[in-house]
Amino acid sequence: MDKAKRRAVIAGNWKMNNTAADATALINAIKAELAGKDTSYCEIIAGVPFTSIAAAKAAAEGSNIKISAQNIHWAEKGAFTGEISGAMLKEAGVEYVIIGHSERRQYFGETDNTVNARVKAALANGLKVILCVGEVLEQREQGITEEIVSMQTKVDLLGIPAEEMKNIIIAYEPVWAIGTGKTATADQAEEVCAIIRGVLAKLYGADVAEATTIQYGGSMNAGNAAELLSKKNVDGGLIGGASLKAPDFVKIIDAAAQ
Ligand code: PEP
Repeated sequence: MDKAKRRAVIAGNWKMNNTAADATALINAIKAELAGKDTSYCEIIAGVPFTSIAAAKAAAEGSNIKISAQNIHWAEKGAFTGEISGAMLKEAGVEYVIIGHSERRQYFGETDNTVNARVKAALANGLKVILCVGEVLEQREQGITEEIVSMQTKVDLLGIPAEEMKNIIIAYEPVWAIGTGKTATADQAEEVCAIIRGVLAKLYGADVAEATTIQYGGSMNAGNAAELLSKKNVDGGLIGGASLKAPDFVKIIDAAAQ
C-alpha cells in the first residue's frame, strides 16, 4: 500500500482553550473557510475540551469535522474524582480521543502503562484513538530517539490486537517541537514516522503497518505543513497552536491535498 491509499488525517488539539461559545465560533469559522472545498481526501478532527464537546458537536453537524476528546480514564466507573470514562465520552458523541499527549505525560504523571490502559478503554467503548509518542530533547541529543519511540509504541499498544489497529492513529510528536515554534525538519519527521511504521510491521505485519495513519505533530503551521506532509510516511498532522485559527488550520488541511 502506498501513502495515497492511507487516510490523511488533520487533527487540531485545542488543549485547554475554547469555552463552549468559543468552540461554536471556531467550528463555524472553520466551516466557512472550508465552504465549497472538496476535502474528501482527508479526515478533519477537532480535539476539544470536555466541556466544549456538546457545542463543538452541534456546530460541526452537517460538516465532515469529527470531534475528539483529549483524554479518557481507563476504568469504566468509580472513585476517580475529576476523570471521564469511555462511556461518558461515547454518550457525549465524540468519535476520537487523544491519548498519551506529552503534556499529559509531563504534567499529569501519564506513563506508557496508563496510556496503554486508556487505549484499551477507548477501544472497548467504540472510540477511535490518536496515540501520541515522541522523545524529549535530551533523548534526541543522546541519540536514543529510535529506542524511546519504539518502546513507547510497543508498550502503549501492548495487548491491542491487529484488527483494532484500523481504529488507531499514531501521532509522532517530538516533545521539543510542541508549542515551541521549533519544528522537526521534514526529514526528521519522516525518519521517525518510518521507524514507527517499522515497529508496527514487527508487531502486526506489513499490511497493518502500511494501512496505519501516522501523523506528525510539533509546531506544524500553514507555512511548513506542505513540506512535512509531502513525506511518504507522514500521513497527517496533529496541530496545537495553529488549530486555534480557522484560516491557518484550513491552510494545513489544503496542504494535505497533495
Ligand atoms: C500538540 O499540542 O499536539 C501540538 C503539536 O502543539 P503545537 O502545534 O502548538 O506545537
